[in-house]
Amino acid sequence: MIKNNRLSEAEYKVNFSDIHPPYTNVNAALVDANRCLFCYDAPCTKSCPTSIDVPKFIKQITTANIKGSAHTIFSSNILGAGCSKVCPVEKLCEGSCVYNLLDEAPIPIAQLQRYSTEKAIAGNWQLFTRKPSTGKKVAIVGAGPAGLSCAFNLSKEGVDVTIYEKESKAGGLMTYGIAAYKVTPEFCEDEVNYILSIGGIDIKYNMALGTDITIAELQAQYDAVYLAFGVGLARQLSVPGENLTGVVDAISFIYELRSKGFSSVPVGDKVAVIGLGMTAIDAATQAKRLGAKEVTIVYRRTQDEMPCTQVELDIAMLDGCKLSWLAAPKEVLGADGKATHLVCTKMKLGEPDASGRRSPVETDETFTLEVDMVIKAAGQMPFEALVNGSSLNNKSGKVSVEDKSVTSINGVFAGGDCVNGGREVVDAVQAGKDGAKAVLSFIATNATNEH
Ligand code: SF4
Repeated sequence: MIKNNRLSEAEYKVNFSDIHPPYTNVNAALVDANRCLFCYDAPCTKSCPTSIDVPKFIKQITTANIKGSAHTIFSSNILGAGCSKVCPVEKLCEGSCVYNLLDEAPIPIAQLQRYSTEKAIAGNWQLFTRKPSTGKKVAIVGAGPAGLSCAFNLSKEGVDVTIYEKESKAGGLMTYGIAAYKVTPEFCEDEVNYILSIGGIDIKYNMALGTDITIAELQAQYDAVYLAFGVGLARQLSVPGENLTGVVDAISFIYELRSKGFSSVPVGDKVAVIGLGMTAIDAATQAKRLGAKEVTIVYRRTQDEMPCTQVELDIAMLDGCKLSWLAAPKEVLGADGKATHLVCTKMKLGEPDASGRRSPVETDETFTLEVDMVIKAAGQMPFEALVNGSSLNNKSGKVSVEDKSVTSINGVFAGGDCVNGGREVVDAVQAGKDGAKAVLSFIATNATNEH
């Protein structure tokens, strides 16, 4: 049966507490920081999409220069605190740490990054000074990681920024789309407020592109426009029974969990989650932590092809989620309008596709899972109708750009998930930096031409 309020407040608190607890004392941080070899050719920095100078910020921790350390991190990544909690570091900085070659534990870069940046946010350390206003105005659509990163980097240079955000809070995916045991809504609010504390950034909430504003209107009012509206539409399964009660999409499920509170979100006894990306893992583990008795993740390939990392998979398995490999949803069966069973087709792996990844092929065999809830996490789709309603060049709804952020409309730039279709938060932060650079160059060129 699908119901909410399955657990006590104390149980919710335990289940959704921080999965990677911070350092509890300075000595532990110092011990870890002092293990760093401060590699000259730091592979950890090279593998960070925002190129954070890892050995430098760690060295600053060893000399008790925490402000300097936070400054080093934020100079490259203003969402460095959030990224320290949500980045798949095992395939980025920590995965590249030279200690892996020695078969020793890598430096806990994320935990050290969190150590410095959380102190900066808690103390509201003002580490950057905004240049005097240039009088130039830029509109940004979307207050997610790409939009905030772009806004910060523009404001630092004296540009007056207005962000149009369709939700009632800023942070985008960080605020609405990630498991609560990785980042709490309260942390996201603090991080956004910290970014905005540089000044010169105004956010207009509940303003959606295409509904409340258009690109043409923004162009008329601002010197440039940066689009960072992300992705968000859940991919449909396109199987019979998809409209039965109990079949929900993972994005809405996680959104509800983060915006309404744990006890308000209904969850089934027997839950099937379709997909094995980060969102699928977040949905499965959170369903379990909300009190679901049985959670089965259904994935159409094998562990070798899974899109999530091993660390993510381990979280789900430690939470007791089951895996059904080489299986794809065929039909949701129901009674009285409610989902009762999920029929799956057994798959096998076929030939590799162009990327070298082996594609799943249907077999004649099926099996059936008893369910009362099915969570669809088979990927997100770009806002195709929104993009097609403008004159932006795009590929199946993904905004096409040149030189990292220049769109087909003069003076309109874009970056983040609305361009790449959905990658990591840290990629969006870098896209925002690239966007700010392109916008500043455009503004400067236009100013020169006006003279
Ligand atoms: Fe330090 Fe590892 Fe980076 Fe080398 S690779 S600088 S040891 S964190």
